[in-house]
Amino acid sequence: MRWSHGVKKLFLVLLVGLVLLSAVLVAKALQRSPQPRGVSAEAPAGESDRDGLNETAIAEHLAAALRFRTISHQDPKEDDHTAFAELRKFLTATYQRVHVGIAHETIAGDGLLYRWPGTDPSAAPILFLAHQDVVPIEPGTEEKWTHPPFDGVIADGHVWGRGAIDDKGSLICLFEAFESLLAEGWTPARTIWLASGFDEEVGGREGAKKIAEELRARNVRFAWILDEGGAVSRGVVPNVERPVASIAISEKGYLSLELTTHATGGHASLPPPETAIGILAAAIDRLQKNPLPARVTPAFEKALELLAPEMPFGPRVVLSNLWLTAPLVLYGANDRPETSAMVRTTTAPTIVQGGVKDNVLPSTARGVINFRVLPGETIASVMEYVKKVIADERVAITKLERSLSEPAPFSSTDRGGYEVLRATLNELFPDAVIVPGVMNGATDSRHFQGLTPDIYRFLPTTLSKSDLPRIHGTDERASVADLLTTVRAYRRIIQQGAAAGPP
Ligand SMILES: [Zn+2]
Repeated sequence: MRWSHGVKKLFLVLLVGLVLLSAVLVAKALQRSPQPRGVSAEAPAGESDRDGLNETAIAEHLAAALRFRTISHQDPKEDDHTAFAELRKFLTATYQRVHVGIAHETIAGDGLLYRWPGTDPSAAPILFLAHQDVVPIEPGTEEKWTHPPFDGVIADGHVWGRGAIDDKGSLICLFEAFESLLAEGWTPARTIWLASGFDEEVGGREGAKKIAEELRARNVRFAWILDEGGAVSRGVVPNVERPVASIAISEKGYLSLELTTHATGGHASLPPPETAIGILAAAIDRLQKNPLPARVTPAFEKALELLAPEMPFGPRVVLSNLWLTAPLVLYGANDRPETSAMVRTTTAPTIVQGGVKDNVLPSTARGVINFRVLPGETIASVMEYVKKVIADERVAITKLERSLSEPAPFSSTDRGGYEVLRATLNELFPDAVIVPGVMNGATDSRHFQGLTPDIYRFLPTTLSKSDLPRIHGTDERASVADLLTTVRAYRRIIQQGAAAGPP
């Protein structure tokens, strides 16, 4: 076969183009060096004399706190206020320096609010959040627990029980940090607040929301806020061996839409071509087949930029060249629910109701679809999309107003709070790669929007892949050694965060 001169020239141009492209791709991949490892500054876990911390005591305090059944319910009337009162009594008795030395009050019943005044009244205060309530045990799973969920057992190097991580682990470690700093006579320059709600797991409308309203009324504004959220994960991010500390700088919005269809009821022996259930089912099917479009958020892009240098050559080239590979990366994200949720507003049908008898056509059917709204979209934009996809006038679409929240704006990654977290992580988790992230779930911190420009959602503890299903699941537990590290991390966050300075 003889190629014409023109075809040969075209091939040559393509070849040169390909070589250049490869060079650019590889150069981009090699441009960034891995995040340097930090230097561990404090005594290793187990040595307690340096900061007066005792890991056995911390574990016992958490175990005791887990024995109070502070379960929150959709219907607040079901909450056991005695359990919350007893937890409060326990905190008062255990952390005496905090309760003698720091002003504290209850808000909206079981909400807790502490204020530790700083020496520099011109410095904006900081706020720590941790909730007291826990999710219930799913009926039928009680027997699957290695140790009963409300017994507060310490065994095999762990504290076992509901709330060990989410979020009494955080609450207790914060109190331990406050108590030990007070014992040393340390004084903050910046005023430090601590707030604790009691219904985070059902939306925080009675607890955190009321506390935030109170602070707003008192004109308190914060430099930054730290709540639960991300953690230091091991073996969770594919292709990355180093632990990854994911600091959530935003959280997804929350929207539940109710779909209702009506049709003529009657005898099931004479059905119309489409029944109320059929119309509803078709609408839900269309929503599942047309998920909201995938998109690279600024946080996701930044995280990939920081993680790519940690990866083997192949994924490194792909993730370092999002300008070209974004469609490929977004397509690949569909493989797993965890990655899909990072790049899109998720669609989850959670309730369907309709019909009472096998031979009667229901005149109405109802479905609920839960959406977690990706930052950059809004409740309104998601609703518009849903209406377009369903495209059926017979399906009424209404918001469930009770639990709406818009996605949180992105907090800064180069100002005070993030810098403090970064410095603390470098000291206490020197191996970790630190990346920004977006929470899929909602936290109490959403009620504090507007009281600060910067909310960070991060619990300074290590979680492995097997730990993740334990949270809200069976065998929730916290490692005793990790608890000590968490207290040390909170101490450093408090010390560095409350040293006055800008802003
Ligand atoms: Zn929680």
